[in-house]
Order: sequence, then C-alpha cells, then structure tokens
Amino acid sequence: MNLHEYQGREIFAAYDIPVLRAEVASTPDEVREIAARIGGTVVVKAQVHAGGRGKAGGVKLAENPDQAAEVAKAIFKLKIKGWPVKKVMVAEASEIASEAYFGITLDREARRNVVICSAAGGIDIEEVAAKTPDKIVRHLVNPSTGLTDAEALDIAKRVYSDEKTAQQAAVILSKLAKIAKEKDTSLIEINPLIVDETGKVIALDAKVVIDDNGLFRQPELEKLRDPDSETKWERMAREKGLSYVKLDGDVGCVVNGAGLAMATMDLIKYYGGNPANFLDIGGSSSPGKVLTAMQIILADKNVKSIVFNIFGGITRCDDVARGIVDAVKKGKIEHPIVVRLTGTNEEEGRKILADSDVKVTPAVTMDEVVQQGIRLALQNKIAAAS
Ligand code: GDP
Ligand code: MN
Repeated sequence: MNLHEYQGREIFAAYDIPVLRAEVASTPDEVREIAARIGGTVVVKAQVHAGGRGKAGGVKLAENPDQAAEVAKAIFKLKIKGWPVKKVMVAEASEIASEAYFGITLDREARRNVVICSAAGGIDIEEVAAKTPDKIVRHLVNPSTGLTDAEALDIAKRVYSDEKTAQQAAVILSKLAKIAKEKDTSLIEINPLIVDETGKVIALDAKVVIDDNGLFRQPELEKLRDPDSETKWERMAREKGLSYVKLDGDVGCVVNGAGLAMATMDLIKYYGGNPANFLDIGGSSSPGKVLTAMQIILADKNVKSIVFNIFGGITRCDDVARGIVDAVKKGKIEHPIVVRLTGTNEEEGRKILADSDVKVTPAVTMDEVVQQGIRLALQNKIAAAS
C-alpha cells in the first residue's frame, strides 16, 4: 500500500527526521491560507501515487500566498501518470546546496533489506543505477543485528565527504531503518535528501510503501489508505478477499490459486488470446465469492468470454458451480462461459451446471478450457461487430 508524501512526512517527523513545515490542502483557497501561515516562499506539491511529479509540473515554488493559490490551481488540473490531483502539500521552501538519494527496500534475491544511497539524488534513481551504477552505494542489512550505527555512518561517509554532513545523514539513515522495521515497509525513500544553505540535512520528499502482508498488524496505517487510489472494483475484490488485477485482454479468468491463475494466463497467451484479468478466488470458496468475481470481471467492458479454471482442493467444485448458476441468473449474464471443474466434489459441480438452465460450456483439460475461452471471445466479438 502506497502512502502519500504528506503521510510519509508525518511518519518521518514522528521519528525526528528533519522535515520542513507543511500542511495539506484540497483547494487553491486553502493553499493561500496555508502559504500565508507558513510565510515566505513555499513549494506546492501534488499528492499522487506517482514518482516524477517534479518533471510533470506537479511541484512548483511560489513566493507569496496569491502565487501559491495560482500554481495550485494549475496543479489541481493535472493528471500525473493517470492520477488526478485531489490534494496538494504546501511546504516551507528550502535553498538546496546538494541533493542525495537515500532508500531502503527489499532485495528479494538476498532476502534482506538493502540500503541504497547515492550522491546523485533529486532525479530518477533508476536512471542513475542504469547509466552510472558506480554512483550507487548498496548495503545489505543483516536482519538479526539490524543496521548498526557504525554501518550507517560508514554508508553516509561514502555519500558525503564532509564529516558533519555524513553524521547527520547517518542518524537519518538509522531512523529510516527503524521505520522500515517497525512499520513493515517494502520501500522507504528520501529523494532528495538535501543539504541546505546552512549545512543542515533535511528530507525534502517522502516515499513510503507498506508491505500489504504486514498491514494486518499496522491498523493505524491501514487507515491512511487513499480511497481514490483503487477503482471500485479493486476495492470490492480486496474487501472480499479476491486478488484481482485488471489487464487489457478480452478473456476473463476466474481461477483458484495464484499459481494456477498465472498458468491459465500464460496458456491463454500461448494459444494466441489475451487475458482480461488475473483473478484468484483463493483457497476457500462460497457461491457469494464467485458472484462477486463475475461482477468484477464483467465491469470491464472488454471482456468477451469467461474462463473458469478450478482445481478443487479446499475449494469445492459444487460451491463454484452454485456460484456460477447464481451469478448468471442474478446478473442476467449473457457472456459465453467455459468451465473446467476438477478435484473436490467435481461430479456434484458438473451435475449442478448440467441440471441448471444456465448455458455453460464444460471443459475437461486445461488446454481445452483455454482454447474454448479464446474461441468464444472471438466469436462474441465478431457477432457484436456485425
Ligand atoms: P518528485 O519529482 O515526485 O520526486 O518530487 P520531489 O518532492 O522530489 O520534488 C522534485 C524536485 O523539486 C526536487 O528534487 C527539488 O529539486 C525540487 N524541490 C522540491 N522542494 C523544493 C524546495 O523546497 N525548494 C527548492 N528550491 N526546490 C524544491
Ligand atoms: Mn522525489
């Protein structure tokens, strides 16, 4: 789960990482008031879940409250990487002597957190890593000791030649490591970490991503979720315990288990089709879950057929079959549906489908269900066009 900069900044402040004074606004008038309260030059920053806001025109300096309202008006009209700007942060502006990058993320291969730093901050760190990898400092964190103060200082010294600057940065880096551990972050990043004209080291940006698997023990962070950051359908899926990712194709997929869902999508591609989504209905099932799954998939108007690929273990094939019959009747679904039920209660499941007046195409093998799904999607598309 992504946090907005203003939310990350508050966590930084709570851990005594130096940040600049700031407040959040939803209208240009609020921006004017905040700018007046802060006084002097301010920076107005779009609060969206996307990097590169600066380049997109989402970060602007303003010398007085009226100008702040003016630039905010323009920022509120922006769409940054598809995200509309609903909130801006108004912060005290700073003189910048240098910009560095400091971050901690998970190195999946090493199965450890990795500290990544660079004196070349402010800009796209991925670009720095690709073009000038020697400008990047990497350090794997030992999970049993955590990042020690000595290590933090050592890392900071590789970024800053000045001793006093390095010491300030080391303290900040130690705090980042503490937040990473205590808040279950999968990414925590300051870009830029600046040195101002007085030599003070300050976090000028805050990017914090919470590991979704840690959210159950971070209830106060779960509350920070931005309702606008997911579609109605993504929210519905999350709340019902379905993993759903929308894609661009036309073959809708309902599968149980992430691995089987991936394999089903691969096979659709293999046979020349395009999956409309990834959807894992999870281990246990209920007719209600299947109904929700169908509603979510059919909200996507590109979908021309639906493939059910169910391997019944804990999931019971009869539950899924009942869900299909229910959903088709309640939702008056006319899309062609192909169903492969195998495993627990498969006989009962198939019988429920066969005995119902709901029209579904049964399939036995995985190749069959996928090929039928592609064929029916194509047929449906041609029928719609003529
Ligand atoms: P991002 O582009 O989404 O990463 O947004 P940032 O918060 O990192 O801002 C982008 C750039 O705007 C920074 O790298 C700075 O160069 C500049 N910037 C942000 N805040 C200030 C400020 O207070 N003063 C000055 N002079 N520049 C700022
Ligand atoms: Mn940044």
